[in-house]
Amino acid sequence: MYYSELKAEITALGFPEYRAKQVFEWLNKGIKSFDEMSNLPKAIREELKKIYYISVAILEKKQISDYDSTVKYLFSLTDGELIESVVMKYHHGYSICISTQVGCKMGCSFCATGKGGFIRNLSASEMLAQIEAAQSDLKIRISNIVLMGMGEPLDNYDNVLRFLHLVSADCGLNIGMRHISLSTCGLVDKIYELSKENLQLTLSISLHAPNDAIRSKTMPVNKKYPIDTLLKACRYYTKTTGRRISFEYAMIDGVNDSDECAAELASKLKGMLCHVNLIPVNSVTETNYRKSKKDRLVSFCNILQKKGITATVRRTLGADIDAACGQLRGKYSN
Ligand code: SAH
Ligand code: SF4
Repeated sequence: MYYSELKAEITALGFPEYRAKQVFEWLNKGIKSFDEMSNLPKAIREELKKIYYISVAILEKKQISDYDSTVKYLFSLTDGELIESVVMKYHHGYSICISTQVGCKMGCSFCATGKGGFIRNLSASEMLAQIEAAQSDLKIRISNIVLMGMGEPLDNYDNVLRFLHLVSADCGLNIGMRHISLSTCGLVDKIYELSKENLQLTLSISLHAPNDAIRSKTMPVNKKYPIDTLLKACRYYTKTTGRRISFEYAMIDGVNDSDECAAELASKLKGMLCHVNLIPVNSVTETNYRKSKKDRLVSFCNILQKKGITATVRRTLGADIDAACGQLRGKYSN
């Protein structure tokens, strides 16, 4: 809840306004039960317990990478559903990758989450709970958030927006929008909606192909929103927000990694305020996709750069711990 909503609820129960402030402060400290709200009289706590619940993410499994200390969590929610989050350490601090849905409707062929289908949306508090749980387990403060775990954030638009406002609020975890990235497979109508919010977050677009023929084969969403329609929305987004767009491009051996693909991609992105992240695809069981060879990544990246598109080959973290989205949940629930 936003503070204004919480205040309305608490005062409607007949309690004074300062009680709402206390409850709000406790919730933002990441407590897990009403009994921990020690400055609230027992009678109030009991009353609150009857009406409300506090979302928690319960640690089910934790894997730590031997290579780079990346930590992958499997959490269960109040109804027993399972989601994943990953914490990565960078020189500038800790970054968390959180889930926004249980499963996903979008069915991308290279994605472990997509294989499992869609179960439900996460509430804003379940998104916050992943951060609280990781912070208290590792005894650290998270400074960056990426919405790149399980699920399609723009398919859960209202809850994601609520989460963004809550997590960036001064009285909340206070993680500024500039430290948040939201990744989408390209839900064009929602990109226009998001542009209007004019948030200072980084929008990442999972592009993964330079043309409709290849993209429609791996990403069904492309049939509804083809590349040109998507890139038009991206241009609108950069114009209205002034923010650079980040394009994710998973390099799949023999599928989208040729020099011709690179040249085609460069011509599509020409003149746009953007950056391309090239990522060797993570192989997922039940798909034949393999990572592109190193020389392909280098050649692809060079072509983009020569044609004036900034691009980098992304370092992969947590390769030994199934850190790609949906992989751990898939194994655990099989
Ligand atoms: N649904 C959103 C965000 C979650 S997926 C989206 O698709 O953008 C987060 C990122 O992981 C996306 O860029 C997605 O394309 C990528 N991804 C999924 N499976 C992958 C795999 N096997 N290898 C590399 N990247 C993958
Ligand atoms: Fe969903 Fe993103 Fe996976 Fe596609 S890549 S199935 S949109 S989570």
